[in-house]
Amino acid sequence: MVKEGNYVVIKTKNEELKGLLLKSQNPEKFVIKLTSGYNFSINKKDVVKLDIIKPEKEEKEFKKPEIQKNPKLKKVLILHTGGTIASKVDYKTGAVSPSFSNEDMLKMFPEIKDIVNIDSKFFGNIFSEDINFNHYNLLAKEIKNNLNYDGIIITHGTDTMHYTSAALSFILEDLVIPIILVGAQRSSDRGSSDSFQNLFSACQFISKSDFSGVAICMHENMNDDSCLILPGLRTRKLHTSRRDAFKAINVKPIAKVKDNSIEILNHDYPKRDRKDKNNLNLKLFEDPKIGILKTHPNMKKEEISMYSKFDGLIIEGTGLGHMPINKVDKLTLENELIFKELEKLSKKIPVVITSQCIFGRVNLNVYSTGRKLQEIGILGNLSDMTTETAFIKLAWLISNYPKDVRKMIDKDLKGEISRRTSEDFI
Ligand code: GLU
Repeated sequence: MVKEGNYVVIKTKNEELKGLLLKSQNPEKFVIKLTSGYNFSINKKDVVKLDIIKPEKEEKEFKKPEIQKNPKLKKVLILHTGGTIASKVDYKTGAVSPSFSNEDMLKMFPEIKDIVNIDSKFFGNIFSEDINFNHYNLLAKEIKNNLNYDGIIITHGTDTMHYTSAALSFILEDLVIPIILVGAQRSSDRGSSDSFQNLFSACQFISKSDFSGVAICMHENMNDDSCLILPGLRTRKLHTSRRDAFKAINVKPIAKVKDNSIEILNHDYPKRDRKDKNNLNLKLFEDPKIGILKTHPNMKKEEISMYSKFDGLIIEGTGLGHMPINKVDKLTLENELIFKELEKLSKKIPVVITSQCIFGRVNLNVYSTGRKLQEIGILGNLSDMTTETAFIKLAWLISNYPKDVRKMIDKDLKGEISRRTSEDFI
């Protein structure tokens, strides 16, 4: 019987794949780590043949290191959710769940034991694109159960890491410890991997700072020697493969970690100034249907009306937050229909506009287009939230404050909107 940790050759009608069988969250799929280091999932029903083979690179028996905890160091829990960062661990040990143990982590990252005492816990092995609101709730409950730690690091696939960090920022009320999400753009079994530096820097930051909120720790640039601590509600993945893919949007990063020291870049962050850890309150997600629609030339009214059964909609507008709603000649008749559909929809559900520019602020006061959108109740004016944070916030407000969504969406609740644009972003 094939099991996780086996090296396998899987044949489907179209291809042959060789690699290590990983734990799969979906019983209908196999997940294998290919020899290239990438994880790949295959529908079980497409498998024509599956053979267990010997690994090409067999590891010498690994002697478990003696883990001695240093009582002077802070205690950090590493919660593994999956993604590229977890990959070397799987690849090298040949067994999946145990590879998330303290021993495996310290084998991969021995320097960490000089900075913090770690405990390691398997939460899941899931591609971050498969994560949904239910996972946010489960993660938040896991955090609440582990407040005896001085900090928690969540290893996470990078694709939706900024959604998860935004979700946790809203769910966890009165958080008194740092929660740092860490990912990797290159798997640990590649020479160019960023996983060590990212994880190591998160440990450094927890050990040396008084931060108590949700943040992301990833590479600052293409050199493998510094990381940034990025605000959980104001960060975005901006590159498919570069190690410095994550950038803070419209605000400065919280800190830089380099050469065993931290430099605070933005002092406006939640501090560990409250003592009572038991006050942590969870405001969890329900499962509202929220869409994200990107505005584009030649839009059709059906793109708006298809959301009529949804609970909320984020529209990524052009520029300052615009949409094609003006009938200016006989070629633009559709725009009038779009406007009517928008008016109907925004009476029914909250419709929030953000900007596809990514950087900058929505301003619906400048052009007549923006003023017309305001008149029909489109929300989001003067906000500088990212589309992803607006999406998470709208879902969270609908889950927790259904009657006050329209009042609350444009108010800064947790640092997700800046009152004034910092000079660095004008
Ligand atoms: N797409 C996957 C994810 O986000 C793998 C890439 C990564 O870990 O960064 O989980």
